[in-house]
Amino acid sequence: MTIGVLKEPASEARVSILPEAVVALLKAGHQVWIEKDAGRLAFASDEQYEKAGAILLNREKIWEAECILGIQLPENLPVQNLNNKILIGVYQPLYNKLLMQEWASAGLTSFSLDMLPRTTRAQSMDVLSSQANIAGYKAVLLASATYPRYFPLFMTAAGSITPAKVLILGAGVAGLQAIATAKRLGAVVEVFDTRPAVKEEVKSLGAKFIEVEGAADASQAGGYAVEQSDDFKARQQQKIAESIAKADIVITTAQIPGKAAPVLVQTEMLDAMRAGSVIIDLAAATGGNTSMTQNNATINYKGITIIGNSNLAATLPSDASKLYGKNVQQFLGLLTGEGAVLKLNWEDDLVKGACITHGGEILHERVKSI
Ligand code: NAD
Repeated sequence: MTIGVLKEPASEARVSILPEAVVALLKAGHQVWIEKDAGRLAFASDEQYEKAGAILLNREKIWEAECILGIQLPENLPVQNLNNKILIGVYQPLYNKLLMQEWASAGLTSFSLDMLPRTTRAQSMDVLSSQANIAGYKAVLLASATYPRYFPLFMTAAGSITPAKVLILGAGVAGLQAIATAKRLGAVVEVFDTRPAVKEEVKSLGAKFIEVEGAADASQAGGYAVEQSDDFKARQQQKIAESIAKADIVITTAQIPGKAAPVLVQTEMLDAMRAGSVIIDLAAATGGNTSMTQNNATINYKGITIIGNSNLAATLPSDASKLYGKNVQQFLGLLTGEGAVLKLNWEDDLVKGACITHGGEILHERVKSI
C-alpha cells in the first residue's frame, strides 16, 4: 500500500509517524510518502525521513496515496477527489458528524483511532492511552512550574515547607499518570472518580481515593464513565468542595465520550481556593471540568491560574509522535494482508469499531445514531 503522511495543522507539533516507523512500514512492504516538513516540529527532518527510505512530496501529491495518515482533522482536504481513499487519524467523529457525512458522501473510507474499542487486543493501537499518558505526566510538570511554591516536603535550617496538596479529578489513563508523577515530586495526592474499579489502582499509587457512594453503573459502557444522577452529582459536589478548599493544585481529566465534560468545579469552589493555586484542565476541549475553563487559554481567576489544554501530548512532540506512530503501525497491520495489500476484514471488531465512513455511508453505529 502507498501510505501518505500529512503535515499537521500549524497548532499541532506532532507527526503521525517518525522516520523509525518508516523503516518498519517499508519492511512490511509498504511505500511511504511524507509531506515536506511534516516532522519538523517533532524534531524529525526531511533528510531523516529520506534516509529511512521515504519519498518527500508536496501536499497535492500526498492525496494520491492509497492511505493517508494524520492526527488532527486534515486542512483543505480535497474531498471530491478522494473516492475510495483510506484516511486514518483522530477525528472525534461524535463531535464532527456533519463532516463525517461529507466524507461518507465523497466515498472516503475513514478510520478514527479514538473510536477503537478499549479491549485488550486494541491496547497496542490505543492512541487515547498513549497520548493521555503523556498529558497526565505533563499536566503535573506544568502545574509545578506554574505553582509559586514547592511540591515536596522540605525541612531546612531556614524553616519547613509543607508538601503541595494535589487533587486529581478522574483516574483514567491521564489521571493515573498524573498521580504517579505528582507522587514522584513529593506531593500529597487525593483522587475522585465515578468508577469504583479504579480505587485499588489509585491506592496502589500511594494516593487517597475519595469515595462517593451510588455512582451510576458504567459496566456496559466499555469502561467509560456515564452520566450521573442529580443526587449523586450533589453529593459529589459536596465532597469535591471539601477537598478543593484544601488543594493547591487541581488536575481535571473527567470526560464522557460524546458528551460535554461534567462541570465538577463550580465558581464557589474556586472562590474557596487560595491565591497561587493552579488548575490544569485536560477536559477543556469538551467544555472543561471547571466553570471558568477556556479551551487553549490560561486565565487568572482571583489569583488562581486555570490552564485549559486538552492537547498537552503535543508539548512532548517527539515521544508523542513515536508512540502514536507505533499505534498506527499496529493498526495498519489489521488493514492489510499478504504483501502489504489492503484487505479490510469487517469481521474484525477493531477494524469495524474504528471505521467511521465506508461505501458512501457512515458505518459507525454510535456516530450514525447521534
Ligand atoms: P476518559 O479520558 O474518558 O475519562 C477520564 C476519567 O474521568 C475516567 O476514569 C472517568 O471515569 C472519569 N470521570 C468521568 N466523569 C467523571 C465525574 N463526573 N467525576 C469524576 N470522574 C469522572 O478515560 P480514559 O483514560 O480514556 O479511560 C476510559 C476507560 O478505558 C477506563 O476504564 C480505562 O481503564 C479503559 N482503558 C482500556 C484500555 C484498553 O484495554 N485498550 C486502554 C486504556 C483505557
